[in-house]
Amino acid sequence: DDATQAEAVRAAVENVADRIEDERDYLTELDSAIGDADHGGNMSRGFEAAAEAVADADTDDPSELIKTVGTTLISEVGGASGPLYGGSFMSASQEFAEEGITTETSVDFAEAYLEKVKDRGDARIGAKTMVDALTPAVQTYKKSIEHDDLPPLTALSKAVDAAERGVEFTVPIRAEKGRASYLGWRSVGHQDPGATSTLYILEELLDTAEE
Ligand code: ADP
Ligand code: MG
Ligand code: MG
Repeated sequence: DDATQAEAVRAAVENVADRIEDERDYLTELDSAIGDADHGGNMSRGFEAAAEAVADADTDDPSELIKTVGTTLISEVGGASGPLYGGSFMSASQEFAEEGITTETSVDFAEAYLEKVKDRGDARIGAKTMVDALTPAVQTYKKSIEHDDLPPLTALSKAVDAAERGVEFTVPIRAEKGRASYLGWRSVGHQDPGATSTLYILEELLDTAEE
């Protein structure tokens, strides 16, 4: 029911906030190599505020709670990643509006989230952005459920593995979007911060779902 799902959403956001806080310096280090050294601060500020906002929210509707995560990230994170993360959570939250969180709506959410990131950021795969972690994760999740008939937890675990490979794939390629693209070929050899934070979020979703 709604109360159980709300509890799971609140726990997930809390776990993501804690993880991002733990990784804050590392994310900033990655962003200092190919950006402006604020990704750790941006993300930890945003998810800290999002965890507070869902804890305080006067609703147990999972869709409303995830929408709140989105609006909070939009107002707190800023930069390129704020609207990408925030806008995508906000928009994809609609997939849970009617039936709540089910295996089927979780696939719809994942796809809607990815579509929104691509719409807003206009980054193809291989542009060295969060899209490089997100795309294989979403494709793997969808295929594991719809084609291989795997349980959602197994599907999510495979999606995390796919995201990890996506993050590694960002290292040897040249950035074509965002601040890192200003460096041109000098961006080669560095791991993308946004792909990395996307992986951490997925890992925490898996951890929360396993509990
Ligand atoms: P800013 O670059 O404005 O300082 P952040 O440092 O918080 O913002 O986020 C940088 C991350 O945002 C990059 O590592 C990349 O993954 C992601 N990003 C930047 N531009 C785009 C884009 N057009 N599409 C998708 N992701 C992007
Ligand atoms: Mg930055
Ligand atoms: Mg910035």
